[in-house]
Amino acid sequence: MDVRVRFAPSPTGYVHIGSLRTALYNYLYAKQNNGSYIIRIEDTDQTRLVEDAISGMLKSMAWAGVENDEGPYMTAEEEIVEKGAYGPYVQSDRLPIYKKHADELIENGNAYYCFCSKERLDAVREQQRSEGKTPKYDGHCRHLTQEEISAKLEAGEPHVVRLKLPENREIKFVDAIKGEVTVNTNDLDDQVLMKTDGFPTYHLAVVIDDHYMKISHVVRGDEWLISTPKHVYTYEAFGWEAPQFVHLPVILSQSKKKLSKREGDVAVEDFRKKGYLPEALVNYIALVGWSPEDGQEILSMSELIEKFSFERVSKSSGVFDVDKLNWVNNQYIRNYDLEALTKLCMPYFINAGFDADVQTVEWFQKIVSVLRERLNRLDEIGQYHGLFMDDDIVLEDEEAAEMIALEHVPEMLKVLIDKIEALESDITAADVKQVLKSIQKEMGVKGKGLFMPVRVAVTGQVHGPDIAEVIEIIGNKRVVKRINYTLAHYCKK
Ligand code: GLU
Repeated sequence: MDVRVRFAPSPTGYVHIGSLRTALYNYLYAKQNNGSYIIRIEDTDQTRLVEDAISGMLKSMAWAGVENDEGPYMTAEEEIVEKGAYGPYVQSDRLPIYKKHADELIENGNAYYCFCSKERLDAVREQQRSEGKTPKYDGHCRHLTQEEISAKLEAGEPHVVRLKLPENREIKFVDAIKGEVTVNTNDLDDQVLMKTDGFPTYHLAVVIDDHYMKISHVVRGDEWLISTPKHVYTYEAFGWEAPQFVHLPVILSQSKKKLSKREGDVAVEDFRKKGYLPEALVNYIALVGWSPEDGQEILSMSELIEKFSFERVSKSSGVFDVDKLNWVNNQYIRNYDLEALTKLCMPYFINAGFDADVQTVEWFQKIVSVLRERLNRLDEIGQYHGLFMDDDIVLEDEEAAEMIALEHVPEMLKVLIDKIEALESDITAADVKQVLKSIQKEMGVKGKGLFMPVRVAVTGQVHGPDIAEVIEIIGNKRVVKRINYTLAHYCKK
């Protein structure tokens, strides 16, 4: 069997992190099996259209590196075009197909016109609720005569088309994650298939499209599991074979609620802006609810493709753990190609006030190199602007003040200034080490008593990235200026 899977987003304007995982699992499964991964846009709910939603979605998917073989994609000129032999891939471009198939279901007795008004449906539901029953359509229009139907249609009465479920029948299917599912049709509603506006509902469109697009596995969030029996029956009504179903448990927030905007970032774009690397986000999200047999946690896309399996998708919901995501992102930041990482960091440098016209690329690279192991996200670079660019020193805390107050410090800092001023070229980290070594020899200070006051005099802080590297980046002039500042403001004369 050819593996053909699809990601079928509604155009909401952004990709939810949970949808990224759904798309990714589809993609991994397709690639593992030399299959095709398709994007189909499900825009049948015309009340929820968002402008430019498709391009926003495609940009996020391209950024994440989860790109489709068929369906809409964006050219280098940012034009949206379709590729693939099973289009159109946007549901609103497929209306005649749905109409034709809805008519077919009516003709073969598997669907019927329903003319009930909203008021009537509300009243029926209200009545059922007051009787303690689960609200469902009461089948009022199932029994209209052909004459009644024709007269209503001719009079132009607004109507929908409903699926005509048989009474008291067990519908069974096997889900790759949930196992066998059985539902009695008495517990199901006669689903609306075509709406009054002539658009199909999701439930009709999804069956028709998955069939004609030759989808082999429907891999989606388990919020759709309750709709699947109706879909299974619809396949049967058309005389088609249903695909295999794989319903993924939802991703929960740390407070065990549905991951929603109220609980923090949920859009892929939010994570991009904060400086998560696409490789890291994809790696992390793959691990929410799935893990490889060998327990490996840092996996490239090709490793994910090789190791992914539905059997190892957990049956219970995964929890979105930002700390773990940060750890994964940090692992990628540590090991990324320095040049490429620096490029990715540039917007954050500029945003933080660094001047790319004044400083060289090599200078920025040095900063990235010295900071990378401390960064969980690229936007954290902003916190280090002062470390490299300030002239004045602010002592961070009591500990810093204590270091500067040590008796030997003023003399030692003066010697340090002399030695830096004696250098004939730009100070390097190696120079710094050399200078400190000679101070150690000449003045007999060592260890903490040597390094800490120097660090505090130059940065105001007792902790921080490698001080020799930091001094190289700051440069001779500014370092001397800072030490003088410290001497003037914090050292006893
Ligand atoms: N359009 C649905 C959604 O946005 C997709 C459901 C499916 O994959 O069948 O969640």
